[in-house]
Amino acid sequence: MAPAMGTAETSRVAMHDSSRDHSGDESMRSKPRISTAKSAGEVEPVGSLERASNVAFESKALLESLGVLDDLVSRDGLVSHRAALLDYQRSVMRKLATLHGNDIEAVAQRALSGPEWAKRFPGSRSTSDLVLPFRTGVNAFIASMQAGGAKVVVSATLRPPERAWLMYYSWKIGKGEIDADDVPPKAGIDIEWNHGNAAKSRQAAQKMAAAYGIAATPASPHSPSRHITGQAIDMTISWKDALVLKDGNGQSVTITSAPRDGTNLELVKVGAAFGVIKAKFGHDDPHWSTDGH
Ligand SMILES: [Zn+2]
Repeated sequence: MAPAMGTAETSRVAMHDSSRDHSGDESMRSKPRISTAKSAGEVEPVGSLERASNVAFESKALLESLGVLDDLVSRDGLVSHRAALLDYQRSVMRKLATLHGNDIEAVAQRALSGPEWAKRFPGSRSTSDLVLPFRTGVNAFIASMQAGGAKVVVSATLRPPERAWLMYYSWKIGKGEIDADDVPPKAGIDIEWNHGNAAKSRQAAQKMAAAYGIAATPASPHSPSRHITGQAIDMTISWKDALVLKDGNGQSVTITSAPRDGTNLELVKVGAAFGVIKAKFGHDDPHWSTDGH
């Protein structure tokens, strides 16, 4: 899906107005960000243990706020507040990045962001990686659709948390909803989002998001996707004319209504009888899970 350039550009302009208020000393954010625990910004020296636990506590609170904000941003009813919510989300992310920035010792070794990252931390397309009893329901649902003549193409099941994290931030940067330097670091992922200037960084992130084949705003790592726990599947479903299939109780169902794809409301009902629930959030056509999340 192509990013909505117009709105992203608009929010980017808004971001630059506010970013300077929160970022503090610009030199702290310029590269290379190699620093020690005793940064210039610290007023009072605290013990390293105490500092670590404060950082952990504050991080947890900030991550929880990000989860809540993500949820609010994706609600259709709050569209008019989207710009303000994104602005607030950016400031929380910036705070998080600043909080962890002091702990980064080797940024120089990082690999630049781009589409080749999609090959790392690969996800699965096999239903055998799904958890029980969801797996049983999915297999039975797919078999039932195929027996009725439907075409079912599975694009994702189990997803490593690293992949989910990379998908989310490549999307956010590509959309201009967050600056490359404001992504909080994550252990085990040595990615450098900053390509030297905002336009290049954003373009690389867009190519990366495209390589992941992202269909809608990915689940935030702060309110994790059902894919990470093997409780979700992405599949593209299509058929011609009428689809005759057995539901979860062995009853025959004939679907003549449109559209002839995974968003068909009658098919959604049949899926539910198998314990396979269509995404409750909008705009993610291939996504089904244990509970619609
Ligand atoms: Zn999905």
